[in-house]
Amino acid sequence: MTQLESAREGIISPQMELVAQHEGVEAEFIRQGVAGGTIVIPANINHTNLVPCGIGHGLKTKVNANIGTSSDFGNIDTELAKLWVAIDSGADTVMDLSTGGDISAIRRAIIASSPLPIGTVPIYQVGIEAIARHDAIVKMTADELFAVIEEHARDGVDFITVHCGVTQSAIARLKQQGRVADVVSRGGAFLIGWILHNERENPLYEHYDRLLDMAREFDVTLSLGDGMRPGCLADATDRAQVEELLVIGELVQRAQQAGVQTMVEGPGHLPLNQIEANVQLEKAICKGAPFYVLGPLVTDVAAGYDHITGAIGGAIAAAAGTDFLCYVTPAEHLSLPDAEDVRQGVIASRIAAHAGDIVKGVKGAQEWDMKMSKARKRLDWEEQARLSLNPELARRVHSKHASAGSACSMCGEYCAMELVEKYLGISASKC
Ligand code: SF4
Repeated sequence: MTQLESAREGIISPQMELVAQHEGVEAEFIRQGVAGGTIVIPANINHTNLVPCGIGHGLKTKVNANIGTSSDFGNIDTELAKLWVAIDSGADTVMDLSTGGDISAIRRAIIASSPLPIGTVPIYQVGIEAIARHDAIVKMTADELFAVIEEHARDGVDFITVHCGVTQSAIARLKQQGRVADVVSRGGAFLIGWILHNERENPLYEHYDRLLDMAREFDVTLSLGDGMRPGCLADATDRAQVEELLVIGELVQRAQQAGVQTMVEGPGHLPLNQIEANVQLEKAICKGAPFYVLGPLVTDVAAGYDHITGAIGGAIAAAAGTDFLCYVTPAEHLSLPDAEDVRQGVIASRIAAHAGDIVKGVKGAQEWDMKMSKARKRLDWEEQARLSLNPELARRVHSKHASAGSACSMCGEYCAMELVEKYLGISASKC
């Protein structure tokens, strides 16, 4: 049985128990969320070293780190190094987006090394193999597509991005309205090329039941991809994007009826004032299915700093009810991220996720900030470092210019908190 089928039968699985312990909530709360489709636990039956993670309503906002080779750079060693940095930085899941080298070997090495849920986008491998086999992505066959999806499922991939909502009708809307950046999803682009060249419907949509059978067999969570996501602010929340979301809403329902866990991917590039509306649209149309956003990026002009751009959007999205943030690194739009980019991206998204969790009232979120505030008032530098998202960095920066007194070197002997404590007569040690 899948996690969803177990939950519907009233069974609390070991994975639900572990998620409940991690979140500090009752296991029955997790079971009900999984049964209702508002929580997913990506946990492929073949990912044997997995520590399960829950994503969805009422849980901590999760952060995904994308790693993987490109056709220009990367190998198993570089990607395993990035995996360890992602884990060390506090990512909740990792997606292997490899498009270069021995893609299957890299994926298997990452799964074997990762206690975190692993996601992939199988259409990348299908497209690359179609070029090698037929000289063109558009010559891929539906059987080749499903063979690769089955391979990923059999290898233990916990969630797969599948752009099932890229349909002929969505493409017609895209063409009719026009866009500045057209399509920026790689998987979406592969499929749009295939659909237009072959004048046929998207095989992931046409043969959706075949996909559901595979997902159900291995309990792979479907992450319904947003192939029509806006790639610049000018294209945000347009008719092509909304058309795809309407289709995805129907596909979520069909997946859940088949016992397959499902979440929904979202933008992309969005101006600040459209983020909340996008979250509400997804939640309404997809009946509360977990929402997984890329960023979102709130301006197009911050190349080199897009981890910050994404964190600004991610915080607003999380506060509005988004469940899962895909990180953005400083290398976004510029190059394949390296290990340091991975660390910067994960930390930036974790700040956004936590800022959202404070507003959502997620258990433990406000308490974390309160502990830090009290440690600051006590001038307890080791506790402050311990409570930081990056303790090593906090220690290093504090000791770089140490103060002669007990405060930090920002104000030194004129530390506001020390001065006020003296005159108020309230000891910080009581904090
Ligand atoms: S010295 Fe200034 S910055 Fe440092 S702890 Fe005191 S008030 Fe804060």
